[in-house]
Amino acid sequence: MNCPFCMHDGTKVIDKRATSDGNINRRRRECLKCSKRFTTYEQIVNMGLTVVKKDGSLQSFDKEKLKNGILKACEKRDIPNDKIDATVNWIEAKLQARSSPRVNSTLIGELVMKKLKMLDKVAYLRFASVCRSFDNIKSFEKELKELKRGVKDE
Ligand SMILES: [Zn+2]
Repeated sequence: MNCPFCMHDGTKVIDKRATSDGNINRRRRECLKCSKRFTTYEQIVNMGLTVVKKDGSLQSFDKEKLKNGILKACEKRDIPNDKIDATVNWIEAKLQARSSPRVNSTLIGELVMKKLKMLDKVAYLRFASVCRSFDNIKSFEKELKELKRGVKDE
C-alpha cells in the first residue's frame, strides 16, 4: 500500500474496524515517511458460492450453467437477452447477499421460477416441470390454473 501523498510504500495501520454489515474493513493508516494519515477499505469481492445439491453433493456456483438452464427454458420464447442476463445477475446478487456462501440448489430453482413467472409463463412452466418435477398431474393442473388466474407476485 503506497502513501497517496508521497508514494512511499511503508505504512502502518493505526485503527481498524468493520462496517456494520461486516463485509468491509476500514483501516486508518499512517505513512512511515511523511506521517500523513489516510483510510483504506478492504472488501470481499467474490465469496465463491457453493451449491448444495439435492443428494448432498457440493458444486461451485456456475453462473454460465445457471444462464444455460434459463436459456433452455426460454427457448423460442422471444425473450430479450438482456432480460435473461438481468435475471441471472439478480439471482447471483440475491445469493451473494445471503450470510452463508453455501446455497441449496432448490433455493436457486425457486429464485429462477419466481423470475420466470413474471417474465414468461411458458418458460416458467418448462423450468418448473424440470426443477420441481411435479409429483402428479394434479399439482401441474393446479399450477396452470393459478397462472391463468394471474398470480400476484411481489
Ligand atoms: Zn507519505
